[in-house]
Amino acid sequence: MKKLLKEKYGISEEIMTLSEEVLAQIKPQTDEIRKVAKYNQIKVLAAFNDHKISDAHLLGSTGYGYNDRGREAIDAVYAQVFGAEDALVRHNIICGTHAIALCLYAVLRPGDTLVSVTGKPYDTLEEVIGTGSFGLGSLKDFGVHYKQVDLANGEVDYNNIMSTIDENTKAVLIQKSKGYDWRPSLTNQQIGEIIRFVQGINRDIICIVDNCYGEFAEPDEPTDHGADLIAGSLIKNPGGGIAQTGGYVTGRAELVELAAYRLNCVGLGKHVGATSDANRQILHGLFMAPHIVAESMMAALFCGSVFERLGFEVCPKPGDYRSDIIQAIKLGSEEKVVRFCEGIQRGAPIDSFVTPVPWDMPGYKHQVIMAAGAFTQGASIELSADAPIKPPYIAYMQGGLTFDSAYVGILCAAQNVVRCG
Ligand SMILES: *Cc1c(COP(=O)(O)O)cnc(C)c1O
Repeated sequence: MKKLLKEKYGISEEIMTLSEEVLAQIKPQTDEIRKVAKYNQIKVLAAFNDHKISDAHLLGSTGYGYNDRGREAIDAVYAQVFGAEDALVRHNIICGTHAIALCLYAVLRPGDTLVSVTGKPYDTLEEVIGTGSFGLGSLKDFGVHYKQVDLANGEVDYNNIMSTIDENTKAVLIQKSKGYDWRPSLTNQQIGEIIRFVQGINRDIICIVDNCYGEFAEPDEPTDHGADLIAGSLIKNPGGGIAQTGGYVTGRAELVELAAYRLNCVGLGKHVGATSDANRQILHGLFMAPHIVAESMMAALFCGSVFERLGFEVCPKPGDYRSDIIQAIKLGSEEKVVRFCEGIQRGAPIDSFVTPVPWDMPGYKHQVIMAAGAFTQGASIELSADAPIKPPYIAYMQGGLTFDSAYVGILCAAQNVVRCG
């Protein structure tokens, strides 16, 4: 193996030795990740069994898509897995931002206030909310107000939430994962505490969770802790690396229906919409998701541990509890960030020969560099890394359909960064 890694990927003896030490060091955490995967796999399997998923559900529909048994079963299976009343899982929810936007537009009306209680939401949501540069068509354009409670040293600021929420507060937005931030991702337990606190002030406030990257990382989900609506992308965790596009919304039935009104149109809601060939992928992907999430969590853990050993600050740290698939590494210079992403790209099954470069990605303020050599374009449940080009030059890596292949990319990234000196 060493010979192959050296010949094909230029991995030095030093990095190989380091990697072997790290693999031994992280054994207790990988065992824990496997345990959560097993629990979630049984949960998913049971939902398939309870809803008697059969070959017929794998087929799609055309035209209006009336009585699409697969589509209806997928919603029911998702709802059960997430401990929710109902779900809207569609290939034509184009990404995570779209899924979250559906939740916001579903519940917020002119004069209402949305409060983000976990600081600045994910970059692409700024345009949706209206704090970005476009404005037109945003929630603000429709007369929805926005307030934000920043985290205090990475912690939820309960006093500030208390003083910010008022009688116009209709909904609260909670972001589970760190996004492009340097803070611990929230656990579902912590999300439950926030929800109880907010609904203790006013129990009618709708709690919406941006669940991107969080699915199946823990044995529970935000909906198990009282979230009214949660949303995510199918080219991240719940698509299991199989779904080629899509998003989901799940939670309280009446709110899911409102999200469907927004996606489709009022009156038609969830009950119309051809699925073409998507049902098979969505079901197959959900079935694979607990396992694939575990593979990518092990990759994140391995990556964090290697870079900590190399002297970099990492978040989360190797021994920390993990509630999503993200590993952040503070690399400290543009060169190292670029070289890191090149290494990750080198270990990808697709486009490994391509050199990623920083570019002006739509919806983002700074230039972003992305390493993504994926079967599904941009899928971040597959091995990938991205970094906004700004100090302190943090790279975020995530994904990996198999730990053994992600391992190669991570070694290449480590080798590249070490060569920077
Ligand atoms: C990925 C992500 C989103 C949505 O991003 P898309 O690229 O639109 O799928 C939102 N929030 C967080 C925390 C994310 O990681």
